[in-house]
Amino acid sequence: MDNIGIAEKLELLSKLLDIHGADPFKAKAFAAASFTIDKLPYPLFNTPIDKWRSIRGIGASVTNALSQLQETGTIDLLEELLKNTPPGVIEMLQIKGIGPKKIHTIWKEMGIESMGELLYACQENRLLHYKGFGEKTQEAVAQSIQFILQHQGHFLFAEIEAIFPLIDNYLAQLFGKENIAVTGSFRRQLPTIEELAYVVLAEKENSKTKFETAQPPLLLEEEEGSLLYQLKNGLRLRLYFTNDLPTTLFNTSCSEDFKIAFDNIALKKGVKTAVHDAPDGILFSEKGIPFVHPAKREKGTQLFDSTSSTQTVLHENQIRGLIHCHSTWSDGSNELEEMVQECMKRNWEYMVISDHSASAFYANGLSAERVAAQHQQIDLLNKRYAPFRIFKSIESDILSDGSLDYEETVLSSFDLVIASIHSNLRMLKEKATERLIRAIENPFTTILGHPTGRLLLSRAGYPIDHEKIIDACAANKVAIEINAHPRRLDLDWTWVDHALEKGVLLSINPDAHQLEGFHDIRYGILVAQKTKLSASQNLSSFSCKEFENWLIKRK
Ligand SMILES: [Zn+2]
Ligand SMILES: [Zn+2]
Repeated sequence: MDNIGIAEKLELLSKLLDIHGADPFKAKAFAAASFTIDKLPYPLFNTPIDKWRSIRGIGASVTNALSQLQETGTIDLLEELLKNTPPGVIEMLQIKGIGPKKIHTIWKEMGIESMGELLYACQENRLLHYKGFGEKTQEAVAQSIQFILQHQGHFLFAEIEAIFPLIDNYLAQLFGKENIAVTGSFRRQLPTIEELAYVVLAEKENSKTKFETAQPPLLLEEEEGSLLYQLKNGLRLRLYFTNDLPTTLFNTSCSEDFKIAFDNIALKKGVKTAVHDAPDGILFSEKGIPFVHPAKREKGTQLFDSTSSTQTVLHENQIRGLIHCHSTWSDGSNELEEMVQECMKRNWEYMVISDHSASAFYANGLSAERVAAQHQQIDLLNKRYAPFRIFKSIESDILSDGSLDYEETVLSSFDLVIASIHSNLRMLKEKATERLIRAIENPFTTILGHPTGRLLLSRAGYPIDHEKIIDACAANKVAIEINAHPRRLDLDWTWVDHALEKGVLLSINPDAHQLEGFHDIRYGILVAQKTKLSASQNLSSFSCKEFENWLIKRK
């Protein structure tokens, strides 16, 4: 092992000691030794052990560690620390702007164990409650994590959508707008994207040279009809070259299951349906079957769903109220009044304010007294802005035993309660399911918030028995949220049709922590378009009156 290798091991050891909150002098000793060894003009391990202690900064414990390293290639203490540190916490060492001591706070005090969770916490303003974390640090951490996550090559749908116009323009310039069509997982509106794919009406060989610009993208893979590039931001871009755009577009934007079902339908000559204006609309028309929205090309059975559900999809303009948002009363960035005004600008008729409950101390959760004070303010605003209405709600933590925060007297002061799990996320399926069902059975629970707690691309969420949870919601007339934050999209769209079959209402909710977050409703809509969800089954599409009536009827 050369000096650089030794120095790296000692540096990591020093950082891990700080992350674990060990004696700072011990950590400093290893850091100092690492620095010295890195600068030594001769290879340390070529000199006899008894000479080591004469080197400045190398004391007894460092010598001991070094001799272990020389003999075994590692250090016991380092191995032990590595074993006891979640991999996501070690990854945080890559984040610019924070050191091991701050990572200690993030892990031990905030209870955050992965970069994705940390990014989400930044977006929820949660870092600001901790000593040493100001707005600047929070912003720097968020930016650095975004950079790192993107370079791992996986993106949220929303992240791709943000850069999509640039890429689309670039390809349109190279090939002509009418000769390109986006396909694959982006066209199917899937929550995460590993590869942005396009169909290109052009010859592959001639096209390759078009990319030989001053800053060519990296060619990763070449297959018979396609090229796979990696762009500067880490995104993989796949191009399918074809001389039959409609067919290739269709084949690359449906699942295998859907394609088989489609191929099994014989061409019916003479019974053409109207041609949809999508480039692959002609294929449906030729078979005499109704066009299926690209988002709905997952299961073969979706091909045979009734005409209305394949062609009609829920739209953003069918949202009539903002359900699930946070204000400055807990961890949101905006005052209630600003939020009301923003809702009215969007022609929404009501807002369900659901700040965090008391046990969410990290999010400045509301004590019973502050709930009462907030209700006073809501009453005033409701007078001022009528007929716009603010519904009094709370995002009540589901405690470990499945009970809700607050005494019944407080719970009964809300118009509705959104119940969510935010703490003790590490649970086995059985425990998590029981915990949720107890909360669902609580007569005060109205909506189940983000059912699995997952954060896309960063935290799997606790495992739950979806069927049991959906049955419990059906039995207790509890609606299930489709949390529309692009990193959540929880309930997952694959369970929505099942919930609808059981008669459960869904609710597309942005879980907004600032005005800009209202926009996230879009991502809930896009995944809902993959399902049969219609406005009549989505709570946030209810008019104010319908929503009010529904609440009364439930009680
Ligand atoms: Zn929540
Ligand atoms: Zn929330």
